[in-house]
Amino acid sequence: MKLNTNYANIGKNYLFAEIARRVEAYKAKNPGAKIVRLGIGDVSGPLAPAVIEAMHKAVDDEATKERFHGYGPEQGYAFLREKIAASDYVSRGIDMSADEIFVSDGAKSDCANFQELLSPEAKIAVADPVYPVYVDSNVMAGRGGAETGGRHDGIVYLECNRANGFTPGPDQAKGCDAVYLCFPNNPTGAVATRERLQEWVDWANATGALLLFDAAYESFVRTPGVPKSIYECEGARGCAVEFRSFSKTAGFTGTRCGFTVVPEGIAARAPDGTELSLRKMWSRRQTTMFNGASYISQRGAEAVYSPEGAAQCKAATDFYLENARLIKEALVSRGLPVCGGDDSPYLWVETGASGWDMFDRLLEEAQVVVTPGEGFGRAGAGFIRISSFNSRENTLEAIDRLGRTL
Ligand SMILES: *Cc1c(COP(=O)(O)O)cnc(C)c1O
Repeated sequence: MKLNTNYANIGKNYLFAEIARRVEAYKAKNPGAKIVRLGIGDVSGPLAPAVIEAMHKAVDDEATKERFHGYGPEQGYAFLREKIAASDYVSRGIDMSADEIFVSDGAKSDCANFQELLSPEAKIAVADPVYPVYVDSNVMAGRGGAETGGRHDGIVYLECNRANGFTPGPDQAKGCDAVYLCFPNNPTGAVATRERLQEWVDWANATGALLLFDAAYESFVRTPGVPKSIYECEGARGCAVEFRSFSKTAGFTGTRCGFTVVPEGIAARAPDGTELSLRKMWSRRQTTMFNGASYISQRGAEAVYSPEGAAQCKAATDFYLENARLIKEALVSRGLPVCGGDDSPYLWVETGASGWDMFDRLLEEAQVVVTPGEGFGRAGAGFIRISSFNSRENTLEAIDRLGRTL
């Protein structure tokens, strides 16, 4: 059978399955233990009232003959694409039109699918540590090659460490054709300065490389001057695609809606000289392989931009950021080096111990679940990721217990 044997190259140990296994084993031995989970990358809800109201209305639309919606446009409804272009970009001084916005069922699928538009020979770079989707989707497509020591031979890894503030520069990406960047970052919580992002844009424009910018956490940025979008950099419309999601911004992890921005003007030449527009290629790809996000989700996403919806969603991200601030304060006061937690729901904590050793210790001694840094790549060794997606009560309880253990 001629299967895609690139799948044999994908890393075997799935991080969150291993975490669940260890937590279950602990619970079996310690029934009744109250475990606090600071490991999850999922919001704790509920959805904003404005979103719920809009979705209820959309359900009622579906119940009528006049306002029923069947298949919608694969690229998303105009009501949402226009709202996104106007509110997220034009109102912030960025040139953007609705037909450069492609609505989807979330950023994970777009981040995974976008590599289909690259040549099979394209050399890709990712950060280490990294959100695994960028790596695994390229490995499945044959760009990864065999894995040795937790890294794929065919992929370039951009080392993130304390020395570079967990924001690598293009000096590490020589010869690469496409680079995945994510800021505010998952897992490190790091943000990039405008100067650092501009370096990437200038490099991409000079070399003809493509930047794939994941801005899933943009709505957590509070520090003035920290970019929320790659298009705040001059020239980014010529070299960068941006992935966004309502998942962390508005609690849509279960509702599902996101979008990808592909500006007009990123183009390549086919061997016969015809121009290939990246925007048109993505449009073609989506119309062929995707049938649109649900009407109900898109109406919910539209409500995120209403004055009430925006205020309610901001209150939710403010709440998580306050959790993050409390956790950070406690860890820093114990002398632990901490990255993130200011413009991000994640804290990247250097404990010195192996991530899995620290994971086991925190589970046994504090009944707190964190995510071991190694799960995100080799450069994650010695770190743990702590998430602020939790109730205040659980967060305070976890801080108290961590304080007694660390
Ligand atoms: C959560 C997350 C996403 C969003 O995924 P959805 O499919 O939209 O839920 C994208 N990128 C990163 C880095 C994330 O952590």
